[in-house]
Amino acid sequence: MTVVNAKEMLLEATEGKYAVGAFNVTNLIQMEAVIAAAVNKKAPLIIQTSVSPSKFLNPSVLAAIYRTLAEAAPIPICLHLDHCDDVDHCKTCADAGYTSIMIDASKHDFDENIRQTRLICDYCHLKALTVEGELGTVSGIEDQVRVAEDEAALCDPGQALEFIERTGVDLFAPAIGTAHGVYKTKNPKLDFDRLRDISELVNGSGARIPLVVHGGTGLQPDVVKKLISLGGSKFNVSTDLKHVLIDTTYAYLCEHRREYNPGKLDLAVRQAIMERIGYWIDLLGSAGKA
Ligand SMILES: [Zn+2]
Repeated sequence: MTVVNAKEMLLEATEGKYAVGAFNVTNLIQMEAVIAAAVNKKAPLIIQTSVSPSKFLNPSVLAAIYRTLAEAAPIPICLHLDHCDDVDHCKTCADAGYTSIMIDASKHDFDENIRQTRLICDYCHLKALTVEGELGTVSGIEDQVRVAEDEAALCDPGQALEFIERTGVDLFAPAIGTAHGVYKTKNPKLDFDRLRDISELVNGSGARIPLVVHGGTGLQPDVVKKLISLGGSKFNVSTDLKHVLIDTTYAYLCEHRREYNPGKLDLAVRQAIMERIGYWIDLLGSAGKA
């Protein structure tokens, strides 16, 4: 493994106009499959866990599995904690061996968001870890229309620079109308101009702070490409992979109801996840960039 921090990896992506997939996993099979697919594609990779699996499996267990798999892989791989609103848990994961941490204090007012994000930056930077912060609200799918229509919930470009400077954050997630879950419409309301403005302000005179797109699941390929062309370089995909896991498991069990061989089920899941990750890596343009 080439040890590279997420910021370096993503600055290269920003300059090269592609995005690195940040894929959420909940178990060993998924983590191994995602890494195998990225190795096949020679793509840089970010593995993410949300807070629940990190608590369920224990951050140290996840970090140990990550380290073992990543050390054997000929591509750069980061282990990132996704959307953590608990300062103590951010620190626990940083101590356990995660290489990148997202402190999501976006539900708080501007100054409190800055205070908490700054705290985690100070803590993680001593360990040479990368920190992602969020400004504005990335909604759940049920809120998407409300948020998209409510400018106040989106990232104010005027505040973006101040947030970055006062926090010292390495990766910046501006809310631009994307949502978590599965979009109910083929054309969700995304604020492309807002992303363009923020990208111009932050990285206009040379890539400084990589921008993160949340809620990748369900976006049409042309939309994904547009978001990347406007400056998104970390692209989060979670729900899609949950669907692949559950749907493949269900289909396999229906077809092999009398077979009691978990290894074969794992192989079916692994294969399906590898195919899906291959699709995303091709779409994001990161194949061959490792
Ligand atoms: Zn997110």
